[in-house]
Amino acid sequence: MNRYKLLTPGPLTTTDAVKKQMLEDRCTWDDEYKSITQQIRKELVRIAGTTEDKYTAVLMQGSGSFVVESVLTSVVADEDMLLIIANGAYGERMAQMAKIIGLQHEVYNVPYNEYPTLQHVEELLKDQNFTHIAIVHCETTTGILNPIAEIGNIAKKYNATFIVDAMSSFGGVEMNIEELQIDYLISSANKCIQGVPGFGFVIANKEKLLDTKGTARSVSLDLYDQWRVIDVDGKWRFTSPTHVVAAFAEALKELAEEGGVKARTARYAANNAYIRQRLAKVNMHAYIDEAKQSPIISTFLFPNAEFNFQDFYENMKKTGFVLYPGKLTDVDTFRIGNIGDVSIEDLSVLCDAIDQYMGVNV
Ligand SMILES: *Cc1c(COP(=O)(O)O)cnc(C)c1O
Repeated sequence: MNRYKLLTPGPLTTTDAVKKQMLEDRCTWDDEYKSITQQIRKELVRIAGTTEDKYTAVLMQGSGSFVVESVLTSVVADEDMLLIIANGAYGERMAQMAKIIGLQHEVYNVPYNEYPTLQHVEELLKDQNFTHIAIVHCETTTGILNPIAEIGNIAKKYNATFIVDAMSSFGGVEMNIEELQIDYLISSANKCIQGVPGFGFVIANKEKLLDTKGTARSVSLDLYDQWRVIDVDGKWRFTSPTHVVAAFAEALKELAEEGGVKARTARYAANNAYIRQRLAKVNMHAYIDEAKQSPIISTFLFPNAEFNFQDFYENMKKTGFVLYPGKLTDVDTFRIGNIGDVSIEDLSVLCDAIDQYMGVNV
């Protein structure tokens, strides 16, 4: 059914079975549909490595950013103080949201190819009364995978609520929300779970969430209210994206069939290593050090001054692959995502085409 494979970090290539779920129209208040929602919420908590007595999954309409904004507007109160750690566009987007909402906040800006300095984060917490820390796990801007376990330790030490945008990593990088001491983990339907776009979700520490009643400055994005309504029997507050939800349930089933997050992480890591090795041979080098690289998406430097990304992009599209432009202002880059229904066999076809494009005999 696919005309081409999307090598982008979402929307990504989904299976035919996932797409087929969307051929049926479903009723939002029917028990059958509501039970799909409840099963999804249960399964999300399970794959986060925890249990429903401690955490709860809240689904929210919209793209991933809507859900990040929902958390920021709903859990950080006027008297609270938020520290945002940013080493990419998605961290900076959180800062923009905090500003518009009017939250008391500070941004620790870090160069895009570096980790935040733990010592500096600790100093910031020592000096000021931060009640919340927010960071992006896999910064999709570059593909860097941030050290959230270490940041979580600092958050815990200073009694700060820990918010993680795990949009492009949840389901594709093994993680245990309790061990990582995350209070609010945010992700969306169209990333590593391999569903289609239309909603996102928050896996929230129930004790913390219970304390946030009345904090939201938005009706549609009120996380607490959304939780109270959806938790009754799986009926969403306001119209739910029924087709997307059904497709997501199928995607979760396929994740389990693949062997769970562990197996998916292994497939993604193999995909990622394969692309990086093959591209290095044609002088396309990764922007992020191997040690800091996520298994999700890689940023590559242009191989030479004559390289024309648009021409390269069109060529690869003819071969059956859609690549992703870079997002850096200071260096010329492009990106290749390796998540979704994509195998090493697919990637070898792409890499052969890249070899040919670069004038290497294959
Ligand atoms: C995809 C993504 C988002 C959300 O982007 P939307 O375009 O709103 O879906 C947020 N953070 C990260 C790290 C992402 O990869």
